[in-house]
Amino acid sequence: MLSELLDLVLPAACALCHRPGAPLCPRCRDAALECLHASPRVAVPSPPPPGMPSCWVSGEASGALRAVVTAYKDEGRRDLHRTLATWLAPALRAAAGAEPAARDSLRGRGLLVVPVPGSPRARRRRGDVPLTPLVSGAAASVPGRVTVAEVLVATRLTKDQSTLDAAARASNLAGAMAVRERHVRVVGGAVCIVVDDLVTTGATLAEAARALRDAGAGTVLGAAIGATRRQVDHHAGLPCRPPLKGSGDRSNVGA
Ligand SMILES: [Zn+2]
Repeated sequence: MLSELLDLVLPAACALCHRPGAPLCPRCRDAALECLHASPRVAVPSPPPPGMPSCWVSGEASGALRAVVTAYKDEGRRDLHRTLATWLAPALRAAAGAEPAARDSLRGRGLLVVPVPGSPRARRRRGDVPLTPLVSGAAASVPGRVTVAEVLVATRLTKDQSTLDAAARASNLAGAMAVRERHVRVVGGAVCIVVDDLVTTGATLAEAARALRDAGAGTVLGAAIGATRRQVDHHAGLPCRPPLKGSGDRSNVGA
């Protein structure tokens, strides 16, 4: 509500190149769209962390696509939430349609879509949980009975994942999540899709899946906007342009 009011008062500018106008100018949007696959793919981290759920991604987590996610999460550009929800939606629909158990639950008791919990540190720094509106927006595009619920909670402090390699990320997160006591009944036997914005080593999704399985979840799948290049089959991948920096500087296009 507040951000929509501010949009009316403050002139918008492109989140990447800062040109006045839309939250994402046509050129930066095109650069980000080049990072999206023609259809969602399964992300395969190398090596996959133990317990990593099958995870569908809409695109490649680099260039302008990664920059848009960063602008949304860490640079206060919450006005990009509809755009990012639209980019998450194909991966979520693919995960929801991928296995008979998931398709059955869409027609029956309902599919449980679970955003991964942010660390308490990130929650304090940002003042909100930016992933949840993206997940809710994307889930609205899944046909059938879908419930988005923040059933997971971080149970202890963890280090900043961005500074760690794959093995250190996995041990940093081991046992770091749990299903909230009041949600244990909802999770029991449910088909769950855990959702993150971007997948790097898969450690976050693996830990989220472990916590859900420990609480009695049935099938657990995953979905994300993008995965880093080395983790998806990229032989048929599209070129992925970096973000455009410096408003009006055409020499940066395609750099
Ligand atoms: Zn731009």
